[in-house]
Amino acid sequence: CGIVGVLGDHEVAPILVEALKRLEYRGYDSAGIATVNDGKLARRRAVGKLVNLSDLLVHEPLAGKSGIGHTRWATHGAPTVTNAHPHQAGKVAVVHNGIIENFRELRAELADAGVEFVTETDTETVALMTHRYMTEGADPVEAAKKTLARLEGAFALAFLFDGYEDLMIAARKGSPLAIGYGTGEMFVGSDAIALSPLTDRISYLEEGDIAVITRTSVEVTDANGNLANRAIRTIQIDA
Ligand code: GLU
Repeated sequence: CGIVGVLGDHEVAPILVEALKRLEYRGYDSAGIATVNDGKLARRRAVGKLVNLSDLLVHEPLAGKSGIGHTRWATHGAPTVTNAHPHQAGKVAVVHNGIIENFRELRAELADAGVEFVTETDTETVALMTHRYMTEGADPVEAAKKTLARLEGAFALAFLFDGYEDLMIAARKGSPLAIGYGTGEMFVGSDAIALSPLTDRISYLEEGDIAVITRTSVEVTDANGNLANRAIRTIQIDA
């Protein structure tokens, strides 16, 4: 029920877990993070409280300065490790809040093409579809945008890619998503509270927005595919 993303300057795993803690108030049944380190995408997920994820990270650390994280409130598929986010297919990892309403149709289409599913979630469809577009030759940005164009429902999404340490894609349709601006760092969060220890410079995505994010740039396109400017405000959050 919460999303965070960091293209950072420091080891990102503890930063992601800390940001997820600030989203705990929303409730969740499992949690996970993914990072890209030396070009390689990897993830850790755990059922239950965030402390279970922290414990797992002690035994199986995840290095890297780019990452995404998620607290899940299961809507499709039981709260298991397999169903926990991030979901990965090939070179793409995805975290998602909300529901992809048309996932059954998309899943049927992928299944017809021989794609195999390992989870019961609506979210895995997003990862598999993006992966499929990439195997057909699309670059990560094209593949994510093509996938996003096909999704119905209310959701917030963040994408991270194997081989790309300076790229994160965020999209909003129905669920809020904030972008935090650092100095040579960029952040994404379900709300500004999650990002408040990291930065106080925040912009909010609007309905249908897609943001292509690097450490030094944010390019937002609106629901019609036109470049959009989303004002950066300096916000004050106590604690
Ligand atoms: N529908 C997704 C799932 O069940 C995301 C749920 C959420 O918002 O945490 O995995």
